[in-house]
Amino acid sequence: MSGSRILKVAVSVPLSREFDYLPPSGESPAAPGSRVLVPFGRRQQVGVVVAHASDSDLPASKIRRAIATLDDKPLLSADDLWFVRFTSDYYHHPIGEVVAAALPALLRQGKALHPTVTVIAITDAGEGADVEALSKRAPRQAELLEILRDAGGNGVDVESLTESVPNWRRAVKPLLEKGFVTRFEASMDATDPASGEPAAPGPELNDHQRRALDAIREQPGFGAYLLDGVTGSGKTEVYLRLMRDVLGDNEQVLVLVPEIGLTPQLVSRLSSRLSVEPTILHSRLTDLARLHAWRNARSGSAKLIVGTRSAVFTPLPDVGLIVVDEEHDHSFKQQEGLRYSARDLAIARAKHCNIPIVLGSATPTLEVLQHCRTGNFRRLVLPERAGGARPPNFRLVDLSRAATSDGLSEPLLDAIKRHLCADGQVLIFLNRRGFAPTLICSSCGHVAECSRCDSRMTVHARDRQLRCHHCGAHRLLDELCSACGAAVKPLGEGTQRLEDALRGRFAAYRIERIDSDSTQKKGSIDQALALAERGDADILVGTQMLSKGHHFPKLTLVGIVNADQGLFGTDFRSGERLAQSIIQVAGRAGRENRQGEVIIQTAYPANPFWQCLIDGGYAQVSSDALAEREETRWPPFTRLALIRSAAHRQIDAHAFLDIARQRIEVQHIQHLRVLGPVNAPMARKAGRYRAQLLLQSSDRKALHAVLNSLRPTLENEPAARKVRWSIDVDPIELF
Ligand code: ADP
Ligand code: ZN
Repeated sequence: MSGSRILKVAVSVPLSREFDYLPPSGESPAAPGSRVLVPFGRRQQVGVVVAHASDSDLPASKIRRAIATLDDKPLLSADDLWFVRFTSDYYHHPIGEVVAAALPALLRQGKALHPTVTVIAITDAGEGADVEALSKRAPRQAELLEILRDAGGNGVDVESLTESVPNWRRAVKPLLEKGFVTRFEASMDATDPASGEPAAPGPELNDHQRRALDAIREQPGFGAYLLDGVTGSGKTEVYLRLMRDVLGDNEQVLVLVPEIGLTPQLVSRLSSRLSVEPTILHSRLTDLARLHAWRNARSGSAKLIVGTRSAVFTPLPDVGLIVVDEEHDHSFKQQEGLRYSARDLAIARAKHCNIPIVLGSATPTLEVLQHCRTGNFRRLVLPERAGGARPPNFRLVDLSRAATSDGLSEPLLDAIKRHLCADGQVLIFLNRRGFAPTLICSSCGHVAECSRCDSRMTVHARDRQLRCHHCGAHRLLDELCSACGAAVKPLGEGTQRLEDALRGRFAAYRIERIDSDSTQKKGSIDQALALAERGDADILVGTQMLSKGHHFPKLTLVGIVNADQGLFGTDFRSGERLAQSIIQVAGRAGRENRQGEVIIQTAYPANPFWQCLIDGGYAQVSSDALAEREETRWPPFTRLALIRSAAHRQIDAHAFLDIARQRIEVQHIQHLRVLGPVNAPMARKAGRYRAQLLLQSSDRKALHAVLNSLRPTLENEPAARKVRWSIDVDPIELF
């Protein structure tokens, strides 16, 4: 018998250690990567065995036995476990919580890899039933029967049924009684995701695309590539060729995208061009659907996996290529719990698996650009739009001179008219949803504020509500000032107000607003985007949701209503962000053969940022910004980690960070700057006071060495019990 009888188990609790158990009595130790059910305190928990050991810090009598082994074969491979550990080490986050993030919910809860589910299916009698007659008496039953008829003999599992017909349970009873449907338990097995359709041919690559493709193909094994190309320059065509190579070798491809809901075009393009049905992974899947996708990826039967950030954890035994599209997008960084960057983890994973990774963007982050300068990554440039479309013309409108109404200046309104008359489509961009960002009293100047946050309430006129966009609090819209009783008025513009103003002026045209309020309902984003794409909507009004990756063939004018918020931002990334958001939204204009125009409204037309952006484009802005960062020693020239704390009392939030600071200082680490604690830029949110401590170093190893020993120390501090705290490695928001 081997001496390594002790199981090192990762349990999903916020403690950065593994827990020791003995195998269930009479069993040999479950292999690493398998789940076990273990006693934890007074509860039972599902954990994952991450290693075996021959001894423990605990005395033998104190080591408890696992209750059961849940998998006869490991769920996670050695590579998967490596990745979990890497993530836990790099982000200084408890390994049990990393494992939990890597597993689909059903597996986390201890369900079988191939769970049986309750299925409802139509019977022969049901096939023969007169649905039309039924629909008169019992429309719900008829609807359900119709769905089951379409599904055929394999039926529909109850979870999916709940998705499509929320109140199916009431309708199913009489159908069961009539013998029209039957209910049984089944193990839903993987369907083969091959689409069978022949692959559609693509355009012949231009020279730039070809050079980029050759450069990536040439180098075997790991390589990180930045595909730096303006919107429409044909980056996706390059990905497609690489994917075809890899799929042809029967290997897997992982594509990470910012938001699935916003990329239906990409998904359908992949499936038509590669004749493989992509396996989609995103947060809105049902638990069962997610498990299916995960299982198919793990078995290697899913070849092409397209997903949002958490898809980076999907087991991929035969992975041959990773693509991160729109590498600059913030949604790749998780901002709560395990605060990881899916892009950065994908790079680490590609390196470990010795495969290429391609990062695509028209507005690459300075981090990635700097890696290209130092030679870690290779930059491949696609300088012009493929298919002959020309770049759009930029024009500034000086808000301090031009007359405006509801935030729209005369020159912008004129341009809208002009483009609409020429049968063009118009996009009006404002990164602020709601009707107005402020409700102000016209007599005393009192502003409606959130009672739980240091922020103003946004006016949502349609629902007659005031809402806080930071904590979700809402209340009835005040008619009168709560301070003095005088009349109040909404101040400033949100997308709803722009929509109303445009409807007033362009009543004959179809106007579509796209922001997270207008797209709450399932499927509504797809519908709105399809309208926009077909050119059926004449004016699109929206937030950055509209700026991502879409191709609107008819779009010729982009109006940016208020770009000034970003000009004077306090974050060192403000300039980079502003340039990214403007270039991204501008990239929607003139994607086919018509000349595009971009109008930017600003109260500061003389600000040098604008000339730099208009004359030199993103390349100039980013290169200036890199020089400035080097001088001021901000990332990517230094590394950051942020320790955040939040508590009901401000003093507790600070006291915890004071202790953290002391624990860091006693280590006497060289080349480490510790800034704070200070209040977070929004000092109070959802009723909690927030403070932060910033760690900065030019030496990544030094920074990580500090955090290594800091995390377990802080977990044991009594002051930690009064706060919510977290460590954010490579933060992208400094609050
Ligand atoms: P990106 O991913 O950089 O936004 P796409 O790959 O989507 O660019 O290409 C933009 C448009 O140009 C698409 O309609 C695509 O079919 C077309 N296109 C791409 N490459 C070529 C090419 N070499 N010749 C002709 N059309 C091309
Ligand atoms: Zn609030």
